[in-house]
Amino acid sequence: MNGVVIVGSGQAAAQLAISLRQGGYAGAIRMIGDEPYPPYQRPPLSKAFLKDRPSEETLYLRPAAFWKDRDVVLETGTAVAAVDVARKRVTLAGGVEHAYGTLVFATGTRARDLPLPGVKLAGVYSLRKIDDVRRLRPAFDRAKRVVIVGGGYIGLEVAAVMRQEGRDAVVVEAEDRVMKRVAGETVSQFYQTLHRGRGVDIRLGARLGSIEGEGRASGAALASGERIAADLVLVATGARANDDLAAAAGLECKDGIVVDDFARASAPDVYAIGDCARFFSHRYGRAIRLECVQNAIDQAKAAADAILGKPKTYDPVPWFWSDQYEVKLQITGLLDGYDAAETVGNPADGKFSVDYRKSGRLIAVDAINDGRAHMLGRRRIAADLPEAVRA
Ligand SMILES: Cc1cc2nc3c(=O)[nH]c(=O)nc-3n(C[C@H](O)[C@H](O)[C@H](O)COP(=O)(O)OP(=O)(O)OC[C@H]3O[C@@H](n4cnc5c(N)ncnc54)[C@H](O)[C@@H]3O)c2cc1C
Repeated sequence: MNGVVIVGSGQAAAQLAISLRQGGYAGAIRMIGDEPYPPYQRPPLSKAFLKDRPSEETLYLRPAAFWKDRDVVLETGTAVAAVDVARKRVTLAGGVEHAYGTLVFATGTRARDLPLPGVKLAGVYSLRKIDDVRRLRPAFDRAKRVVIVGGGYIGLEVAAVMRQEGRDAVVVEAEDRVMKRVAGETVSQFYQTLHRGRGVDIRLGARLGSIEGEGRASGAALASGERIAADLVLVATGARANDDLAAAAGLECKDGIVVDDFARASAPDVYAIGDCARFFSHRYGRAIRLECVQNAIDQAKAAADAILGKPKTYDPVPWFWSDQYEVKLQITGLLDGYDAAETVGNPADGKFSVDYRKSGRLIAVDAINDGRAHMLGRRRIAADLPEAVRA
C-alpha cells in the first residue's frame, strides 16, 4: 500500500494526520500544502494576530518538529496540480508524482472573486492566510481610512481592529443587516449598534459598483453613485471551495467536494474534509458545506475513523465563534428557515442569547458573551435534532 496522501496542510489536514497516528495507523502519511508554513490556525488572522502581531509560530497547530516526530512527511510550499484517481497518483506543480493508497482532499476555501472594475488595483486586499496579513499589516499601518467590503464576521472583526487602532473604518454591506448569513436579526442589530458606537461607518443595502484609483485604490464607488475615499480596500465577501482539482479529477462537486456520511468522495479511497467538503446533514435535512474549525476537526476525525476501518456517521451540530472588541459571539447550529426566535437576557447588557426554532424544534442558538448558553445550546440542539443515521 502507498499510504495516505493529504492535499492541503490546514486545520483539517493536521487533525487527520494526528487522528490517524493516534488511531494506530502505521502506514506512510504525506501532507502536501501550497503555503510555506506548517499547519496553522486561521481564526486569529482577523483577530489577535492582526492586532497584537505575535510571531507566526504562535499560530502553528503543532511545533514544526511534531510532524517529523510522528513520521508525517510535510511538503510545504508545494501545490498539487493534478490527481489521477484511476492510477491513484497525484502530480505536484513541479511534475513529481506520488502514488497513494488513500487520498484526502483538505484544500479549504479561497476568497470569492468579485467581478467588478478595480478589484485588481494595488491597495485591494483579501484576508485568508498568513501571507495576506504580511501584505496587509504594513498597508494598514499607513492607512488612515479603510473601506471593508462585506459585513460578515471577518469584515467586522477587521473593522474592530481598525477602530481599536484609531483608524477610520467604513463597512459596505449589500444586505439590510450585517452577518445576515450566520446570525439572526437581534444579533445583527446588536453588532450594528456596537460597531457604530465605536465609530465604524456601516452602510447597509449598499452595493459596491467599483474600486476607484489610478494604479492604486483610492476608494470605493457604490452602485448608488456615492464615492467613499479610502487608503485601502479590504474585500471580505466570502469564500468558495477549493474543489477545482477534485472536479478536474472527475469527482462529484457542487460548490464543495460531495462526500457521504463518512467523508468519502465519489471515487474509491478518496475522501474530502473541512471547508472544501459538502455533505448531507441528517439533522438539518439538507446538504451543507461548513467553514468552521469545529467541522475541520470533527470531519477529519470521522475520515480517520473510516480510513482505520471503524466508520462512524458524521452528523454534527456545527458551532463557530467570532471575537469583536471585547464581545464573543458563539453560534451553534444553522438558523436558516427558523420561524420563531426568543431572546434570553437583554442585549443592552451586552450578554444575551437567542434561541431559533423551526416547527417547534431548536435549530440554532446565538450566544453573546454567554459561554454557558452556548454550551447548553449545543446539548439542547443535539437533543432536539437527534442524529438520524448511525454506522
Ligand atoms: C480570517 C479567518 C478567520 C476565521 N475565523 C474563524 C473563527 O473565528 N471560528 C471558526 O470556527 N472558524 C474561523 N475561520 C474558518 C476556519 O479557519 C476554517 O474553517 C478552517 O481553517 C478550515 O480548515 P481546512 O483545513 O478545511 O482549510 P484551510 O485551513 O483553509 O486549509 C486548506 C489548505 O489547503 C491548501 N491548498 C488548497 N489547494 C491546494 C493544492 N492544490 N495543493 C496544496 N495545497 C492546497 C490551502 O492553501 C490551505 O493552506 C476563519 C477563517 C479565516 C480565513
